Amino acid sequence: MKILSVNAGSSSLKFRLFEMPAEEVLISGVFERIGIGESFYTIKLNKDKIKKEAILNNHEDAFKILVKELIENKVISSTDEIKAIGHRTVQGGEKYKQSVRIDESVINDMIKYSPLAPLHNPAAITGIKAAKNIFNSAEQVAVFDTSFHATMDKINYIYPVPYEWYTKYGVRKYGMHGTSHRFISKRINEILGKDNTKVITCHIGNGASISAILNGKCIDTSMGLTPNAGVMMGSRCGDIDCSIIPYIMKEANMTSEEIDNILNKKSGLLGVSGVSSDSRDIEKGIEEGNERCILAQKMFVRKIINYIAMYYVELKGADAIVFTAGIGENSISTRKQIMEGLDVLGIKLDENANNCRGEEKLISTKDSKIACYVIPTDEELMIARDTYELV
Ligand code: AMP
Repeated sequence: MKILSVNAGSSSLKFRLFEMPAEEVLISGVFERIGIGESFYTIKLNKDKIKKEAILNNHEDAFKILVKELIENKVISSTDEIKAIGHRTVQGGEKYKQSVRIDESVINDMIKYSPLAPLHNPAAITGIKAAKNIFNSAEQVAVFDTSFHATMDKINYIYPVPYEWYTKYGVRKYGMHGTSHRFISKRINEILGKDNTKVITCHIGNGASISAILNGKCIDTSMGLTPNAGVMMGSRCGDIDCSIIPYIMKEANMTSEEIDNILNKKSGLLGVSGVSSDSRDIEKGIEEGNERCILAQKMFVRKIINYIAMYYVELKGADAIVFTAGIGENSISTRKQIMEGLDVLGIKLDENANNCRGEEKLISTKDSKIACYVIPTDEELMIARDTYELV
């Protein structure tokens, strides 16, 4: 059965087509700059990578081109062959504890939850509507980033603010990157060969979140009501003293939109270094002796260590710590610094093994008290698996 995994952003559309249940990737790619001019797309088919310019006024245009490419490249002979489409969806509120088939009520709920994910939910809805128009016989499935975290206890998801903010406005910790944490949780349990595990998953990319997972179920996670909570990120601040916000709004005469924009897009590694939100640029800055890059990296590592230590205590130990996403999979120095900062827990880095990028690997020594792994995440595959199971 052919299943398409889709991740729609406001101006982008990533896709991967799977043959399920074999989990074979038939074709993958991304459409970029949709609706903002100079649009283009890249496609990976077999070992070839094709990049083409195209007029993409909206997501429907992208799907139309996708169909054309699929047929021209003989991946399918008609759109009917794609039986289902799974959509990455960020915010499912308290209602969606699992992936679901999409009907009108699901779309309405996604609209209702949009204020909690103003960048992501509307983009996903656009993607779903466009996909429905082009692939009208395919089932549509929503895979929520929040659903893996639905198993958290109230003690971990209620904020110490007036309780009415929760009941009236839905203010609570929802967590994000759930599809990635779930994929990693499943994989590490396969590697460890058991289900009763204590695992700390570190999804460290441009956005970053850490989760505490007990027996395959999330008990705590670092992102909150929005993705701007927990550890410091590429351009997001993560946890800060919340009184900084009214203070700066007053002192710098800023609106709530302006400060929100700065805390999301001009803070984190970028804000502290003044150089970049990209960890490769920070690493380059460190090599050149840039003091603020050095400071930004030390802070970044410190915040991640703090969360791992907190979750180690919450889980009452840990069988494994897993690093994933852009930085977790690729930054040898960041992993080294994090693991060395956790030596008090008996963690021992295997320097040779850690000299790897983007591959599944044990990077701690045999006598390390906690096994540390790099596991490349695969949210698209997780979406395809859920979609296949549902249809
Ligand atoms: P993601 O959001 O998961 O795509 O991750 C993006 C982050 O991964 C950026 O900060 C990149 O700099 C970082 N990244 C990707 N490749 C490398 C690398 N080889 N070394 C260090 N950081 C990397």
